[in-house]
Amino acid sequence: MSILLEYLQNQMNKQYKHIFFDLDNTLWDYDTNSYEALKITIRKLGVLDEIEDYPTFYSIFYSINEEFRVLYRENKISKKEKRVGRFEKLFVANGISINGLSEAMNETYLKEMPLQVKLIDGAKEVLDYLHGKYCLAIITNGFMETQQQKIEQSGLSKYFEKIFLSEAIGSQKPDSLIFEHAILSMNANKNSCLMIGDSWETDVVGAMKMGVDQIYFIPALHSVYPDSRVVAFRRGMTLDLIEPKVNDSDDLAKKTNTRIIFLLNQLIEIL
Ligand SMILES: [Mg+2]
Repeated sequence: MSILLEYLQNQMNKQYKHIFFDLDNTLWDYDTNSYEALKITIRKLGVLDEIEDYPTFYSIFYSINEEFRVLYRENKISKKEKRVGRFEKLFVANGISINGLSEAMNETYLKEMPLQVKLIDGAKEVLDYLHGKYCLAIITNGFMETQQQKIEQSGLSKYFEKIFLSEAIGSQKPDSLIFEHAILSMNANKNSCLMIGDSWETDVVGAMKMGVDQIYFIPALHSVYPDSRVVAFRRGMTLDLIEPKVNDSDDLAKKTNTRIIFLLNQLIEIL
């Protein structure tokens, strides 16, 4: 049988049973919730008056946080260095004197963060539709207590059979181990699994490496692609400024199906 025929037959036979969701910015609106949590934090600690322009302050925090998140994911810094270090750098960047403030900021921010409950548009609608039809699970990087609390507080837990937390498993996306663990625990076959997430590097490439089909969710491009068609990923394609790349091997992308959506409820079209 030719490779193409084999591929097509594989796709036709594919019937998803197990759906894995990323949490932050896929279901739980991390960007909005973190914006609010940081604002509450600096107000509580009396730092708000020292900040002239909160949206700018937040955008500096956002990029520092991303930088620290990647360092932690690559095992270059510890959990504590990640948590406190991001605030130290933020205060230095804003000329605010530190004096133990970073620890207090981190503590308050971590308390406030999981109390924020804004979900991504369409999340509830999609989960209501999928619940009962498929086995649903969450695979998330991030710290155990925070992620668990976010899921409970925001009313997401009732939809999911299992929650896979990187810290508990000892492996972070895109490592294969966390996906392997999830597939085994769900008693699933990788051909019947589908991974949905907003990160190309961790969610999409991670699942691809395991031979699991993926949906790349890019809400930021919804205004650029307002007709909201489901887009099939092709190697070398660019979407506005985003250029999804397959680095490891060209074979990875051929073995699985990658689709791109701009609104979460486009999942209803696919599933
Ligand atoms: Mg995410």
